[in-house]
Amino acid sequence: MIKLSKFPFKTQKSIPNGSDNKSTWILLQAGFIRQTMAGVYTYTTFWLKVLRKIEKIVREEMDNYWAFETLMPALSPKELWDKTWRWDTIDVMFHLPAANKKEYGLNSTHEELITPLMWDFIQSYKDLPVCAYQIQNKFRNEKRAKSGLLRWREFIMKDAYSFHSSDEDFEKYYEWMKEVYLSIFKKLGLWDDTVIALADWWTFTTKFSHEFQVKIDIWEDIIYKCRECWICHNEEIVDLVNGFKCSSCKSNSFEKFNASEIWNIFPLETKFTSAFWIQYLGEDNKMQTPLMGCYGIWVSRAMWLIAEKFVTDKWINWPESVAPAKYYIAVIWEENLEKALDLIEKLNLDKSEIILDDRFSRKIWFWQKMWDAELLWIPNKIVISKKTIEENSYELNGKLIKI
Ligand SMILES: [Zn+2]
Repeated sequence: MIKLSKFPFKTQKSIPNGSDNKSTWILLQAGFIRQTMAGVYTYTTFWLKVLRKIEKIVREEMDNYWAFETLMPALSPKELWDKTWRWDTIDVMFHLPAANKKEYGLNSTHEELITPLMWDFIQSYKDLPVCAYQIQNKFRNEKRAKSGLLRWREFIMKDAYSFHSSDEDFEKYYEWMKEVYLSIFKKLGLWDDTVIALADWWTFTTKFSHEFQVKIDIWEDIIYKCRECWICHNEEIVDLVNGFKCSSCKSNSFEKFNASEIWNIFPLETKFTSAFWIQYLGEDNKMQTPLMGCYGIWVSRAMWLIAEKFVTDKWINWPESVAPAKYYIAVIWEENLEKALDLIEKLNLDKSEIILDDRFSRKIWFWQKMWDAELLWIPNKIVISKKTIEENSYELNGKLIKI
């Protein structure tokens, strides 16, 4: 139970500086976040609650589909990146000078760590397929970091990596993972506005990658949706000189909208497994190189997109699945606190889901409590006062409920 009487991250009357979109104003005003520098944020208690709920949804779905959680380090030695020639080619990678003339990287992605890790555990075709994931901070040395939603220097990502013995097995898993992702969207309340778009991927593969794009006014990408077969294409794969031509049905009729990428999945073929010399004993008794796939979710961007999608003029209308708490309980006058706590026990509410407004100083009048309850927009607003206690009841979202 979070008790507001000692809570430091208070709401503010006016909107603080340092925001360029509506949801960020409200998150700042409600005390959820503070900007440490461009593209780097501190999360306070309530924003962290939202993050933990999103993480829980992601974990449950991944665990259900035989993906196994790990936690790889944020820091890695240059030698790992030398094996794939990516130390100098990932232009957003932070390079850190270290003691003994060594150099370390702050990871912007983790293929160079997961591949040698799995090398220790994959021996035969019987060990495949296998998928491991983590939820970890990532770093990008952005030249143009922005406040608010996009272009962060530090962010939280779920990244999963799968290993396979055949193309068919990889493709099956890849399609499966699309379903897992769609199920996660539904639970996060982002389902209606999400499309799967084809996008470009590295030159070593002829396959497209798939991006999950959320239609939103704050955007980085332009999506072309085919009017005939509904397949979406990121502008980067549209021939802008000769005009749009659908990659699937060849129609040139399209609609266009702005979107922000939130998740992506892509085939890695044997790029990393070859670089690290991973091999397993195949069914035919010959040594083989496993195929790999990669599945990312920008967890911290998902938070911002949920906030931006559900923002109103005054608050963020949280989907219940990710709201900072389920109950906001305002107690009116200190002498009623004990009875209010008794009532909370009696109602058997999940205490980790309660924000208790137990502030009783002269400055915190009823309307201040209601104003905060509104700004935080917790789905169930409960008021307990002398009157409700006398009537053996409580007020829930403006309605009197008898106990
Ligand atoms: Zn089409």
